[in-house]
Amino acid sequence: MASIRLAGVSKVYPDRTAAVSELALDITEGEFLVLVGPSGCGKTTALRMIAGLEEISSGTLTIGDRVVNRVPARDRDVAMVFQSYALYPHLTVRDNIAFGLQLRKMPKAEIAKRVEQAAETLGLTEHLDRRPRNLSGGQRQRVAMGRAIVRKPHAFLMDEPLSNLDAKLRVQMRAEISRIQRDLGVTTVYVTHDQVEAMTLGDRVAVLKKGVLQQVAPPQELYDRPTNIFVAGFIGSPSMNLLQARLEADTGTTGARLRLGEQTLAVPAALLAERPRLRDYIGHDVAVGIRPEDMEDAELVDTPDDSALTSTTDLVEALGSEILLHFQLDAPPVVTEDTKELARDVGADHLDAASRKSDIIARCSPRSRTK
Ligand code: ATP
Repeated sequence: MASIRLAGVSKVYPDRTAAVSELALDITEGEFLVLVGPSGCGKTTALRMIAGLEEISSGTLTIGDRVVNRVPARDRDVAMVFQSYALYPHLTVRDNIAFGLQLRKMPKAEIAKRVEQAAETLGLTEHLDRRPRNLSGGQRQRVAMGRAIVRKPHAFLMDEPLSNLDAKLRVQMRAEISRIQRDLGVTTVYVTHDQVEAMTLGDRVAVLKKGVLQQVAPPQELYDRPTNIFVAGFIGSPSMNLLQARLEADTGTTGARLRLGEQTLAVPAALLAERPRLRDYIGHDVAVGIRPEDMEDAELVDTPDDSALTSTTDLVEALGSEILLHFQLDAPPVVTEDTKELARDVGADHLDAASRKSDIIARCSPRSRTK
């Protein structure tokens, strides 16, 4: 295994598309780094540059202690796992896994040993003599992984390896990739547009937008301390509520208040003391980010009136383990009956609750973030 360092790495395609701009990343030995971002943000391009499948326009790429800008892909000793699996249909699982080792003219006994070990790790032993067309999607994905594992490379590079699997298998394989990577301790760069995959797999997650790195941090830090509105909105499912507001001084209390449409929300003096930078925003328009789980029904908790907002539920989605409530905060407050009953009612009979227009009151809890 090896560290991977990108220093100011950029890619401009011949048609002048700037796919990756000045990317700086230090990936340590054995680390699992996830590159995440919306479609077209340059994740695949970045990965292909590390693999040697795409030329670097400027900057320096180092694998281990070797600058590899001009080193061909086959000499970089990295193994790529593609979304399409790229298996040879006419070869058995055994030969697909062994293919790269045979090309390198490794002794047959060593190849057989490595293939069997990989098959064991991946639960493929009983399928070694089958051909890819006789395997399920998940099994094919494992063969692609096997091909990477047997090479014992410096690094694994994975480009959306789970995106062709159904939701259940994806969760299962996600856990397996995590386990295998931990067991083998191989430096891994993993590309995905799925932020749940990013959060669950990565030791650190790098968020890209339009070819520019926005933030790189451990998953929980990205979630708790997003560096900008893009990261705040991208990480988290359902995503953070981002509301336009104005922060105003509240001379009476030495605190402040947020004006959200026609409503106001108190920002207590204690919170301002804890986060002194907030004072700089008094008198300015701000974006307020509130995670869905940081809202509570103010009727069900003991809360002062000025720390609550009033709104009307548009939609109730019962997901089994949780219930999502959608509502408009800008709408003028509408008071209807049954507010206290809402949480219990939706649990008991969500169809009934969904068909009823009820008030939902959001409360800023201490974990809510304001910027
Ligand atoms: P996705 O999640 O959709 O695969 P991505 O984040 O991996 O997207 P890239 O495939 O790296 O994004 O593409 C980044 C940008 O570079 C996009 O605007 C894309 O259209 C452009 N691009 C990719 N390959 C080429 C190419 N060969 N020539 C010109 N532009 C390209």
